[in-house]
Amino acid sequence: MRARLTVRSRQRQCLEDITAQVREAVRRSGVDEGLCHLYVPHTTAGIVINENADPDVPRDIIERLEALVPHDAPYRHYEGNADAHIKASLVGQWALVPVAAGDLALGRWQGIFLAEFDGPRERTVVVTVLPSGVRQQVEGEGP
Ligand code: ZN
Repeated sequence: MRARLTVRSRQRQCLEDITAQVREAVRRSGVDEGLCHLYVPHTTAGIVINENADPDVPRDIIERLEALVPHDAPYRHYEGNADAHIKASLVGQWALVPVAAGDLALGRWQGIFLAEFDGPRERTVVVTVLPSGVRQQVEGEGP
């Protein structure tokens, strides 16, 4: 099952929590055990899995990335968003999350974020949910 989520980022740089939207896509897929693949088809946005309990964690991540790769540093890229391309390369454009009992098997404090580095704008996240088919072998329940 494949779904395309639309995410509206609210700032130039931010982590938008998309955990609930991804959970809903997994639920609609009907897959009980498997993998949830997330992919961001953009060059200045990415995917981050990290703590969503304390909102200061996503803020710290964004602030430290900005300190590492400042927006106003000199770059060659003519569009003026070279920092966004570099930050997106650092965090990556995909993630793979286990699906168990029809839900994302995230850690207790984990959330899934769209990482925006050149917003605000509308972004797409492609969610592909795959049934594993190997559950019996992995758990030793096979014949
Ligand atoms: Zn660019």
